[in-house]
Amino acid sequence: HYDVVIVGAGHAGAQAAISLRQLGFEGSVAMIGDEKDPPYERPPLSKEYFAGDKSFDRILIRPASFWAERNIDMLLGRRVKTVDAQAHVLTAGDEQIGYGKLIWATGGSPRMLTCNGADASNVHAVRRRDDVDAMMAKLDQINHVTVIGGGYIGLEAAAVLSKFGKKVVLLEALDRVLARVAGEELSRFYEAEHRAHGVDLRTGAKMDCIEVRDGKATAVLMQDGERIETDMVIVGIGIIPETGPLIAAGAAGGNGVDVDEYCRTSLPDIYAVGDCASHANRFARGAQIRLESVQNANDQAKTAVAHIMGKEEAYDAVPWFWSNQYDLKLQTVGLSTGHDQTILRGDPATRSFSVLYLKAGKLIALDCVNAVKDYVQGRAHVLSGAVLDQSQLADSSIPLKEVGL
Ligand code: FAD
Repeated sequence: HYDVVIVGAGHAGAQAAISLRQLGFEGSVAMIGDEKDPPYERPPLSKEYFAGDKSFDRILIRPASFWAERNIDMLLGRRVKTVDAQAHVLTAGDEQIGYGKLIWATGGSPRMLTCNGADASNVHAVRRRDDVDAMMAKLDQINHVTVIGGGYIGLEAAAVLSKFGKKVVLLEALDRVLARVAGEELSRFYEAEHRAHGVDLRTGAKMDCIEVRDGKATAVLMQDGERIETDMVIVGIGIIPETGPLIAAGAAGGNGVDVDEYCRTSLPDIYAVGDCASHANRFARGAQIRLESVQNANDQAKTAVAHIMGKEEAYDAVPWFWSNQYDLKLQTVGLSTGHDQTILRGDPATRSFSVLYLKAGKLIALDCVNAVKDYVQGRAHVLSGAVLDQSQLADSSIPLKEVGL
């Protein structure tokens, strides 16, 4: 039995454990994770770690010794299979573990293709260290890589691989990359960048299945009959939140586990945080959403822990995110979904610009490419929700913090 059990040793789980001790929680704490490693940063898996610029030790969230020093029991390599919310007991491997409070921080598993050939040995997702290590071990022997999915992860992987000199084909089924998360200006900019770096990037690309020989993918077959020869396939088409045991235990939820403003699920003494938690977000105009970002994982973990410590601090953090591709550093703040207007600030040809998203005249989000100042200064405007002078917003010679009503 532990006073607090954290399920999932990723970003949110790690932050929950850190916050408990920072806030002076003296009870017993265990973290159960199904990966073999202590918590590590996931964003570098498609960036610096994949590129070989950072070793695994450098992406650990805390040094391996940290957890024992804080008296946090790490139960790694174990998967939680069932939760009995009434009895306050869960099963992890063969063991039954009792809890006082449970923090569910299990993230999500990569959505995989369902077509023929999807299970070939050289078809990879990019979610865990093991996924990336398996790819890195093969890179020397391969030349052609097909990336399926033009979201951030697929684009970042394509950028790393093209830097390695691989021939990369990127297939996006929709008519532009980043369609779910960004406006058209940004999508078109990134498409052009990838093509300029030699990536054969195709939108509206409808694949049929994967051709397999001796258990290995040899080509991606398109619906129009084209055969794209390949030595490796990388699939980046989103995640499915890991909520099975909680939903089976009776938690409300659909796409993720539903939580309230304190990250409480509908089950007694069970919180959910991070990628798996579906919550009403002010910056999504109150819509019930899941956010897949380090910001959300950390801030929700802090909210849940504060509540466990008797402080009611509703989750109300402004969303932010980043993506690194080539020498481009994208930083986003706010959520652009539902915008009715965009303003381009600066010239994409200079490779430093921002796309501003407005709804009913209010600045609701910014995508800033190599434009740190816009990112830092725009944040306050997103928070305040004021209606700003649009010609000033569009004028990159006026710092955003000086833009008025
Ligand atoms: P995770 O970090 O996924 O941790 C969940 C852990 O729980 C995992 O170890 C999982 O294996 C484990 N688990 C699941 N089910 C069970 C179970 N039943 N029992 C035990 N353990 C279980 N975000 C950004 O903000 N910026 C970025 O640039 C960025 N880049 C990314 C690049 C990649 C390649 C990936 C994969 C993600 C990226 N993200 C980025 C998203 C970010 O990493 C996630 O939002 C964040 O990791 C979410 O934290 P989490 O704790 O909710 O989930």
